[in-house]
Amino acid sequence: MARALPRLRSARKPCDTLGVSVVNKLNSGLRPLLDLVYPPTCPSCGVAIAEHGGICSTCWNGLEVPSEDTQVIAPYIYNEISRELVLKLKHGGKFSLAALMGRMMATALENGATDENRLLVPVPLHRLRIWERGYNQAALLATELAKHGKGQVCLNALKRRKRTPSLGGLGRSERQRVLSGAITVNAACREKLSGRKIVLVDDVYTSGATSSACTSALLEAGAKSVKVLCFARVETD
Ligand SMILES: [Zn+2]
Repeated sequence: MARALPRLRSARKPCDTLGVSVVNKLNSGLRPLLDLVYPPTCPSCGVAIAEHGGICSTCWNGLEVPSEDTQVIAPYIYNEISRELVLKLKHGGKFSLAALMGRMMATALENGATDENRLLVPVPLHRLRIWERGYNQAALLATELAKHGKGQVCLNALKRRKRTPSLGGLGRSERQRVLSGAITVNAACREKLSGRKIVLVDDVYTSGATSSACTSALLEAGAKSVKVLCFARVETD
């Protein structure tokens, strides 16, 4: 026991699909139990619905589709309803919501011969925030996308070295200053990133400051290209 501890502590996190099996177990194993305890409700507005894992028709109709963009792909505009789903995913610990939102995101990402070369990389959270929340919502979404055949997932490709404050309310140059050096590529994953087409996964795209920092780090590490895929994007006009 005493000999095993130091080894565990010093072990470098491998570049792999860390955490996927846990999520899968939660999705499959606990599901029947959850269904019994909690009757299905719409995760956005809370009305009763027929089955777990969906949203009600009113909310469904309230989701808006953004204009097309080749660099930032999102199935929905960030509005009242998509915001509700994002907040519940972030703060409600809802694994089943990740499955729904991941499925919605998967439909926005085209299939093609390129999928095999495609690497899904979540926008990282600082480790302290992961401890508080228990999970990184972007990693849950990336894992779901991989289940839908949208590419291979590399959950720890990027890491956040600094705990950055909320970027809301900051100007463009201020956001860049705060994020400078905050996001780096995990050394163990460099080889895997080289020459790959990356899809950077996040829940919401707002100013683009965070995804720019991630994109720069990935390109610097040798990625061939980086596209952003998020659940909802803020419409600027
Ligand atoms: Zn609803």
